[in-house]
Amino acid sequence: ILRVQDLVTSFQTESGKLTALDGVSFEVRKGRTLGVVGESGSGKSVTSLSIMGLLPKPAGRIERGVVEFHGKDLTKLSLAEMYRVRGNQVSMIFQEPMTALNPVKKVGRQLQEVFDLHFPSLNPKEAQERVVALLDKVGIPSPEQRAKEYPHQLSGGMRQRAMIAMALACEPEILIADEPTTALDVTIQAQILDLMKDLQESQGMSVIFITHDLGVIAEVCDDVIVMYGGQVLESAPVDRLFEKPHHPYTQGLLASIP
Ligand code: ATP
Ligand code: MG
Repeated sequence: ILRVQDLVTSFQTESGKLTALDGVSFEVRKGRTLGVVGESGSGKSVTSLSIMGLLPKPAGRIERGVVEFHGKDLTKLSLAEMYRVRGNQVSMIFQEPMTALNPVKKVGRQLQEVFDLHFPSLNPKEAQERVVALLDKVGIPSPEQRAKEYPHQLSGGMRQRAMIAMALACEPEILIADEPTTALDVTIQAQILDLMKDLQESQGMSVIFITHDLGVIAEVCDDVIVMYGGQVLESAPVDRLFEKPHHPYTQGLLASIP
């Protein structure tokens, strides 16, 4: 469903050009979860921003490569077309919650707008019920109350969950989750992972799951890529990677988990 081929992304910085992605290739299949692991700075977030067409401008730039979604190269789309893809089919959970939440709009209102846009046949009351149900699903306590609050009135963990709700509201075909659970406690992590599994089974959603946590990868992913220095070192089905890592870096990574 998504194919990334030989992607090269660079940033223009004060000290010159920095190549953040240096020929990244992988594939995401329908209904499957691709895990992305790699140390800090290896290019995980830049990969997701490149796919989403959200690189900071003008410093960030895709120099080469293809991001093919349903046979269309997203890197060649106009801004308007990209908005449509982003709003409908490819959704993202960011590392930083406030990237996706509007600070001056009530949480419930923001979600309702997503529903209004994507499911115009819902009447306002139904949309409101969906909002509360979704907030409940992502584990926000007293969702009816919280829907009436602004993002800054929620705790950090709740904001994270509200953002996850935002990303899921449009029922995307692909969800890119950039370390969505690192800031959450263990029970909520499990809840979010369960929710994602649910959506995968009911809607055939595909997921790109970025994390430092190899345990989470083992639990939720079908395939995995290991990134280092802007490159994909190894790419394999999860079972194979854990049983028989080919690359020395991956072997080291696996040896370091207790
Ligand atoms: P982490 O696990 O810490 O989130 P990451 O794998 O997501 O790390 P990226 O954010 O993808 O790492 O960064 C890859 C490289 O691109 C790093 O060298 C980083 O310094 C650089 N980079 C990322 N964003 C920018 C930017 N806006 N301007 C300049 N360089 C950037
Ligand atoms: Mg990152």
